Amino acid sequence: ESGVPLIKTGALTTCTHLPYAPFQSKDSSGKVVGFDVALIDLVATKLGVTQEIVDTPFEGIKSGSDLNSGKCDVAAAGMTITDERKQVLDFSEPYFDATQALAVLTGSPVKTLEGLAGKRLGVQGGTTGEDYIKKQVAEKKLDIEVVSYRDLAALQQALATNQVEAAVNDLPVWNEYIKANPGKVAVAAGFDTGEQYGFAVKKGNTALLETIDEVLAAARADGTYDKIYATWIGE
Ligand code: GLN
Repeated sequence: ESGVPLIKTGALTTCTHLPYAPFQSKDSSGKVVGFDVALIDLVATKLGVTQEIVDTPFEGIKSGSDLNSGKCDVAAAGMTITDERKQVLDFSEPYFDATQALAVLTGSPVKTLEGLAGKRLGVQGGTTGEDYIKKQVAEKKLDIEVVSYRDLAALQQALATNQVEAAVNDLPVWNEYIKANPGKVAVAAGFDTGEQYGFAVKKGNTALLETIDEVLAAARADGTYDKIYATWIGE
């Protein structure tokens, strides 16, 4: 009806921004794996094709430019559904609930944003975590130097090497980091932002969006979603 084809080529191309474990990251062999990858693999299977992943900066994903220019068929990037992003992208039904969390090095006395007075706080550029922190700092007139990093790896590295006193990102990525690097980092505080992740398509590609929603509903109904959740997220 809409005239927009489900997918452009013989593969389902997925735009994402690496690394964002446990949603998407490279395994030891260089293959991109994770919670989002596993769910989009189900969509690819339903379409009778394979998934091809395109690693690209988050800015181009959330701004709609990558999908609307045809760089990818779908975006799967641990991406929170927001009103602003809905103006430029069409989102699937929510597939994951998240909040923001403040991570510190183990043993740090910092427990709150107020406790960061005069200190540096790291965030990831272009994310809802960055938006949330900038808003809090402005509203509460906090004396915090907010430093934006280009990706999650750079942010985590900055925290690990004491370039920032604390860092904010989505809670599940800190949980994953703590699992992979036991004893290094602790979650000092959570911020209940009530975020939900969605997969995104080019505006108007309702055929692909409907397929994604059907696959998600079927995966929730038959236990596949729970299995994928247990594999990548845990309890
Ligand atoms: N959930 C956050 C957002 O959508 C972070 C996503 C990411 O960095 N991949 O802004």
